[in-house]
Amino acid sequence: MPFYDHEIDLVILTHPHADHYVGLTALLNRYKVDRLLWNGVKGMAPDYQPFQAAVDKKHVVRVVDDHKISFDFGDGVHLTTIYPNRKLGAGETADPNVTSIISRLEYGSNSVLLTGDTSEAVEQGLVASHLIRPDTVLKVAHHGSKTGTDAGFLATDQPKFAVISVGRNNRYGHPAPETLLRLKGIQIYRTDKDGTVEFSSKAGVPFSVKAHALHD
Ligand SMILES: [Zn+2]
Repeated sequence: MPFYDHEIDLVILTHPHADHYVGLTALLNRYKVDRLLWNGVKGMAPDYQPFQAAVDKKHVVRVVDDHKISFDFGDGVHLTTIYPNRKLGAGETADPNVTSIISRLEYGSNSVLLTGDTSEAVEQGLVASHLIRPDTVLKVAHHGSKTGTDAGFLATDQPKFAVISVGRNNRYGHPAPETLLRLKGIQIYRTDKDGTVEFSSKAGVPFSVKAHALHD
């Protein structure tokens, strides 16, 4: 977004892990955020408190009910949540990754599937529930970890582009070689190598991708 724009329509905290909410704390304090979507699961670490304090000042929409939530951004742009589509049980919140909000952003014939840090089991469940269909872009689950990006899920999602949000030289070894192997044949962008990745979809203009490579 341009530097002079200080308003964000919607921010999603997919699940309460520090690598997702710490950056959002600064963003919430610096920008005017209209709505914040989260799954109702609270973080347990001390650094969650500054995030909670920033959230308390905002209008918060929570995905906890037994129905999907849709946002209409105007001009034909919609975002719909597909997981969780019911209140999460106590046992399920033990691993925050599997509580990740999964949503689809749609505009015309293009769509982006946002998967948070979800697992193969959740991906398989979504396929079985017929909630996965071909998407233009897949935001690869869990920084490319081997615990996500199920082969059957990929065969159903059939993304043209896959983007992996991952730190350079991270200590977890993300993305996993086996996940990269499963993504073979799909055009992959990685934030550790390609920097900020920008997807553009405009009426009458071909879908485009721009990578703002990092400079050392
Ligand atoms: Zn993460």
